[in-house]
Amino acid sequence: MNNIFSDTKEAFSLKSNFELTRAYFLFKIIGNSTVVKITTSITKFALKFNLPVSFLIKVTVFDHFCGGVSEEDCNPVINKLYKNNVHSVLDFSTEGFNSEHEFDECLKKKISIIEFIKNKEEIPFAVFKPTCLGSTELFIKKSLGEKFSENEELMWSRVINRFEKVCKKAYENNIKILIDAEEVDVQKAIDDLAILMMRKFNLANPIVFNTVQMYRKDRLQYLNELINNKSNDKVIFGLKLVRGAYMEKERQFANERGIESPICETKKDTDNNFDLGLDFVFNNLDRISFVCASHNENSVLKVMDVMKNKNINSNDIRIWFGQLYGMSDNISFNLAKRNYNVFKILPFGSVKNLMPYLIRRAEENTSVSGQTGRELQLIQNEKNRRLKLKA
Ligand SMILES: Cc1cc2nc3c(=O)[nH]c(=O)nc-3n(C[C@H](O)[C@H](O)[C@H](O)COP(=O)(O)OP(=O)(O)OC[C@H]3O[C@@H](n4cnc5c(N)ncnc54)[C@H](O)[C@@H]3O)c2cc1C
Repeated sequence: MNNIFSDTKEAFSLKSNFELTRAYFLFKIIGNSTVVKITTSITKFALKFNLPVSFLIKVTVFDHFCGGVSEEDCNPVINKLYKNNVHSVLDFSTEGFNSEHEFDECLKKKISIIEFIKNKEEIPFAVFKPTCLGSTELFIKKSLGEKFSENEELMWSRVINRFEKVCKKAYENNIKILIDAEEVDVQKAIDDLAILMMRKFNLANPIVFNTVQMYRKDRLQYLNELINNKSNDKVIFGLKLVRGAYMEKERQFANERGIESPICETKKDTDNNFDLGLDFVFNNLDRISFVCASHNENSVLKVMDVMKNKNINSNDIRIWFGQLYGMSDNISFNLAKRNYNVFKILPFGSVKNLMPYLIRRAEENTSVSGQTGRELQLIQNEKNRRLKLKA
């Protein structure tokens, strides 16, 4: 497809020849599922037994997809992005947290990140994964509407408290906060907490953003109920629209339980649902701020198209685009050049803690047909363009 996103000069303006070649080989490798499986197993084994592989991971896949090991470490990347009008969202890796102590530590970290980013116009959003603030089992039970024991009630009140503390901190510092969406099993409890927070903190401005996974068959109904619920009359909704990251897992769960899969049957259905989600937010833009969080060029083009048709300025504060660092630079940089609001999610943390994230990126680029091919083609085009310039 030839459109504004084919401009590879802009897309890779921050990448040196070395970084471009590294990206090329990375996407070549992760495009091969057998290689990904073998490399993943070897890496997990090596990290478990403290074999010295961290450096190798750091200078290859980590540096391509992550900002650094600490907030300060991310500064050069943040500044480089912002010079090109691309914002950053710092995402501290928090996977696999299980104890009350770890949930409290995670809360402290999230608060300290907001402290770090306050007054930094280059970082307008904070982000957190709900199950880093409470046990997954509790989220599941709550989502099912099962009765809590006395102790579970106590633990759940601590989860609400942690949600409230992090959202309040964001509110006090006028930082928008993204709540990630997770598996269907836990999502009902997350949705309920998110709207509880919006009712508190989204009365004057959209501060709290809940994520809506449009690969789910029931999300349009969710959106309609959200907006038609009288208790939400005063809320300015913050929504992040995504397709959804857990398709294979969800389908497997449904299969094992012998229930209908909650996920659209085909990619076309998901794409269609995503479009309907976009129509929904545009039809209710007087009450919604939203992020189109996608690497899909058609989805981004659709948003741009509707904005144009409705005479909405490219940098209208209600509309944001988001991509992951290390992916779809052609979308992010070309949008930013045209003054749209764009951010990159910039994961940071230790190599070990970020391994699940990196493995997901590798698997996603293997399983999502098209994405790796797209990245590789763009990188190849840019390499050719640079070679021609040299000749
Ligand atoms: C900034 C940002 C934040 C994100 N936050 C979250 C989050 O909080 N929670 C979350 O779950 N995900 C999140 N994601 C990931 C997102 O949900 C998608 O997995 C990813 O972006 C790929 O979808 P896409 O829209 O970019 O484009 P595409 O590459 O066009 O779409 C791929 C997606 O389509 C869907 N799909 C693929 N094949 C089929 C099929 N056969 N049947 C039905 N559906 C299919 C899947 O959702 C798949 O991920 C985020 C992504 C970004 C960029």
